[in-house]
Amino acid sequence: MDIRFDGKRALVTGAGKGIGRDTAILLSKCGAEVFALSRTKADLDSLKAEVPKIKTICVDLADVEATTVAVNNCGDIDLLVNNAAVAILEPFLEVTKDIFDKLMNVNVWSIIQISQIVAKGMVERGLGGAIVNVSSQASLVGLTNHTVYCATKAAVDSLTKTMALELGPKNIRVNSVNPTVTNTAMGKVGWSKPEKADPMKRRIPLGRFAEVDEVVHVILFLLSGKSSMVSGTCLPIDGAMSSSGI
Ligand code: NAP
Repeated sequence: MDIRFDGKRALVTGAGKGIGRDTAILLSKCGAEVFALSRTKADLDSLKAEVPKIKTICVDLADVEATTVAVNNCGDIDLLVNNAAVAILEPFLEVTKDIFDKLMNVNVWSIIQISQIVAKGMVERGLGGAIVNVSSQASLVGLTNHTVYCATKAAVDSLTKTMALELGPKNIRVNSVNPTVTNTAMGKVGWSKPEKADPMKRRIPLGRFAEVDEVVHVILFLLSGKSSMVSGTCLPIDGAMSSSGI
């Protein structure tokens, strides 16, 4: 199956590392003009060195005004990947308002804010578009010490369905992907020690964590015309963990 995005303009958030970075690179290889937004300049500089035609944008999504300016400066966007998120782990009894606000702002509000700007442009141009929100298995199952992170990802799933409902009549498809632990910098937060990783792998019927390209390929499929009747879906990429009932 050949997926091409020639003539399409794509924006990927959190594109400095991990899933976002490889999504930006593959979108570019598949012909899209890619805007890669992230927070750490060194990551964006190395991305630019690796794929010079990718346009990089250094902004912290916690800065609402700077985010608005940065996204408006991208111009028309046909494909949006809301990937950036932060994971800060705390036991439920120690959850603080400060961490709740930080995670909600980046993991949820930035999706609303950026999608509003991008989708308004899509509606004005009348050509439709596709949005993929990167959620998590954390929206589907409880994970120890992940209270706020899980809550933000459940919010992302809910947002995905509502956005799909309201934007569908404008031919804008909205889906989420819900990966299990994926081998990235974030994946190592909480899951690098064997005493944590091994019991989690035992909960995954396929018996392992995901590789980055196993997530990226699904994102590209959902952005592409090959999934033209798929919208409002929250798609687990979890080796059947969320179906296992374990
Ligand atoms: P990662 O390796 O930590 O990369 C996240 C990227 O997002 C980094 O480039 C980071 O920049 C950027 N970012 C974070 N906060 C930002 C902000 N406020 N403004 C701008 N950029 C920001 O994470 P990942 O594992 O690729 O995760 C990507 C997505 O997959 C996230 O939505 C995550 O929740 C989801 N996910 C991950 C896993 C997993 O196990 N890895 C599992 C399920 C779902 P800095 O490094 O500069 O902060």
